[in-house]
Amino acid sequence: MSESIGARASRKGPRPKHVPLRTCVVCRDKDAKRQFVRIVRTPDEGVQIDPTGKRNGRGAYLCDKFTCWERAVAGTALDRALKADIDADVRNVLSQYADEHFRKDDNVRS
Ligand SMILES: [Zn+2]
Repeated sequence: MSESIGARASRKGPRPKHVPLRTCVVCRDKDAKRQFVRIVRTPDEGVQIDPTGKRNGRGAYLCDKFTCWERAVAGTALDRALKADIDADVRNVLSQYADEHFRKDDNVRS
């Protein structure tokens, strides 16, 4: 048994200890550990992927399951969450992003 995982113990980091819980707008999963990607509706540039999570605007989160992205692209969960019409261009961008980041058969890598 090794106890040498202390490398990233940062108990006095500047961050408060509250963990933001995202909710995937498709599967409604909440998880602080998994990777959620923010989609934001910006006032002037429409709906965008916001990997930094810092852009202003109404945000919605998608989890790291490829199927959720597929369903977001095909369905209306995001439209409803963002109260916006997601147009075909944005759907393309989302689908491409999902392809690059969460391929269907990526359950081996994480
Ligand atoms: Zn999901």
